[in-house]
Amino acid sequence: MSAQIIDGKAIAQSIKDKLKAEVITLRAAAERAPCLAVVLVGNDPASEVYVGHKKKACAEVGIESRSITLAGDITQAALEQHLKQLNEDPSVDGILLQLPLPAHLNSQSAIDLISPRKDVDGLTPVSQGLLIWRRPAHVSCTPAGIMELVRSTGINLTGKRAVVIGRSVLVGAPVATLLGHAGATVTGVHSKTVNPAAICREADVLVVAAGVKHLVGSEWIKPGAVVIDVGIHRGEDGKLTGDVDFKEVAAKAAWITPVPGGVGPMTIVSLLRNCVSAFKARKP
Ligand code: NAD
Repeated sequence: MSAQIIDGKAIAQSIKDKLKAEVITLRAAAERAPCLAVVLVGNDPASEVYVGHKKKACAEVGIESRSITLAGDITQAALEQHLKQLNEDPSVDGILLQLPLPAHLNSQSAIDLISPRKDVDGLTPVSQGLLIWRRPAHVSCTPAGIMELVRSTGINLTGKRAVVIGRSVLVGAPVATLLGHAGATVTGVHSKTVNPAAICREADVLVVAAGVKHLVGSEWIKPGAVVIDVGIHRGEDGKLTGDVDFKEVAAKAAWITPVPGGVGPMTIVSLLRNCVSAFKARKP
């Protein structure tokens, strides 16, 4: 292996340490902690695990997390009523609606209802529109974390070729926007792209968010590239792997994120950051 590991866990920890110190000061001045409302619908085991990680991270930095656990058969109207109440609640700074929702619910309508001020996941159309306008309020968490990981390598993105595999609203589309804002020339690769490996071989920075286990092997990599693996797949042995064949790609790239310990911890720390900034921007 020749690539250097981009240690998302360590970078996230150093950001958490700074946030913890900041929250102590903010709490003292406001006489309350920043508060994140975590809305979980149903009992999907993976969602329960993700929510548990987020609540634990909140506790580590002194952010209060409030659980709103709703029955899996809740109606759209009742879910929306809960979200409206959280929008109005002055003691709540951020709202996290854990996705995916059960199939009978309309996620987009529910997300649309979240106040952009409290949209710490950066998913509402207002948050995403502000991002395109280079006036981000809350940048969505995974793309913000990816940018931090890319920056940690010291690469100057101006004029560099970046390729993003995947174009989802959650990851691919906003990270492509952010890379473009940082000066890179960005190409999007998706499930309909012809000869994606050839396009990826031109990338100085390759972000892989396809959700396809080990899609990217060494023949997709330009020697010396920065490779960010967003994918998460749990094997039958319980071990996590990504969209990138780590061993093969690490032999050719200059920098690579591991799975686990790469993008995942940065997604959570971006959520904490957004909560703190929502708290600071709250109306008195
Ligand atoms: P998604 O399914 O919404 O989008 C996947 C995208 O990849 C689509 O745009 C699709 O066109 C593209 N794609 C699918 N197959 C492809 C192929 N063979 N070649 C090229 N492109 C292809 O998924 P998402 O929400 O963007 O998540 C992507 C992956 O990242 C998933 O594995 C998810 O679990 C993971 N994820 C990780 C984190 C984290 O914090 N680490 C956060 C969000 C998502």
